[in-house]
Amino acid sequence: MTRLLHRQTASALPVAVGGEGIELIDKTGKRYIDASGGAAVSCLGHGHPDVRAALHRQLDQIAYAHTGFFTTDAAEALAERLINDAPEGLSHVYLVSGGSEAVEAALKMARQYFVEKGEPQRRHIIARRQSYHGNTLGALAAGGNEWRRRQFQPLLIETHHVDPCFAYRHQGPTESDADYAARAARSLEDKVAELGGENVIAFVAETVVGATAGAVPPVADYFKRIREICDRHGILLILDEVMCGMGRTGTLHAVEQEGIRPDLMTVAKGLGGGYQPIGAVLLGGHIHDAFAQGSGFFQHGHTYMGHPMAAAAALAVQQVIARDNLLANVRAMGTVLHDRLTAQFGNHPNVGDIRGRGLFRAIELVADRGTKAPFDPTLKLNARIKKAAMAEGLMVYPMGGTIDGARGDHVLLAPPFIVTEDQVGTIVDRLARAV
Ligand code: PMP
Repeated sequence: MTRLLHRQTASALPVAVGGEGIELIDKTGKRYIDASGGAAVSCLGHGHPDVRAALHRQLDQIAYAHTGFFTTDAAEALAERLINDAPEGLSHVYLVSGGSEAVEAALKMARQYFVEKGEPQRRHIIARRQSYHGNTLGALAAGGNEWRRRQFQPLLIETHHVDPCFAYRHQGPTESDADYAARAARSLEDKVAELGGENVIAFVAETVVGATAGAVPPVADYFKRIREICDRHGILLILDEVMCGMGRTGTLHAVEQEGIRPDLMTVAKGLGGGYQPIGAVLLGGHIHDAFAQGSGFFQHGHTYMGHPMAAAAALAVQQVIARDNLLANVRAMGTVLHDRLTAQFGNHPNVGDIRGRGLFRAIELVADRGTKAPFDPTLKLNARIKKAAMAEGLMVYPMGGTIDGARGDHVLLAPPFIVTEDQVGTIVDRLARAV
């Protein structure tokens, strides 16, 4: 009997004892293709020799040095690299231990920025319905998933949620991308008018929606409209790229494909590729300068921030991605994956949509292909597909059921960036058998 309070099913899970390339191996010797990268984490797969070597070197030098006393070469080098490759305007990095911590830090940084600037009346955070930004109290408050929030509601900071990005759009009335972008922007505009633009701190959004809706890219011009509204009211734009960032969609940052600049951006998962827990906030020069000219420091901190082992792992992961030109493979294999999914499921009576960018793809499961009516959530399709896929030796990330009134089921695929064409074929074959 396991004593881990992990997941309700922990005692029924296979025990992972090894990992090699894109596969994980359990105690019985069974191999599973990691077609979900865990949860879009394992971008270099498992047991990568360069990352292991970097971790051994770091362990032999120094495993931990508190940031109140020291900086380390590993943390400095990672920060330097992240800023060199960051979207223009982002000038500094705050290193933490994961995605939720990064979102928490970004929210607090945004609030402190306005306090430093003498605008303490700004107190509202706006995010989107059906969104996920993490499970700590602040990140949970930003998220718009009522089911996750419900029992913790009395403890959550007040946040406001506007139109659900672009999720489930294909299940609703047909409207053009331009009309959709305009409607979503109007939803933000109305909320800002209601709260008073001068009272709003930030708008938080995932650039490409991951877990909650399944690899849903923004419609054209959506983010340009959002940026314009934020600029007009002095509201900060926080992009959450914890899941979709660090190369997953074919560019290092998903926002590069949107032609706008965020004020703050969170990254995690693929940053360290699962080799160590790590996350980061990338912040604009204006945010940094407000702190520098004001109180002099960001009033926050975690014992493990800037951890040298985590920084060394992330640095090695990012160096391998660049050295082996893996973003080109993400783009090429992403197209192959999309084409194979389309060949396999394009006419399937229960597949309503095939979407995504790079190696961040999903199929939407529907009861009726014509009307796009979703399945009955009590069928718990996601759990059944996950189980069937695991029996086939395939890790995928199905989500669904009822989220905040909107219903839908999807299977998210996020294989490692090192995946080959043959392996993509095997992934789709196994998924077809599971579905
Ligand atoms: N933001 C997004 C968009 C995420 O997908 C996640 C994790 N699924 C988080 C934040 C939270 O990250 P973590 O689980 O590392 O705390």
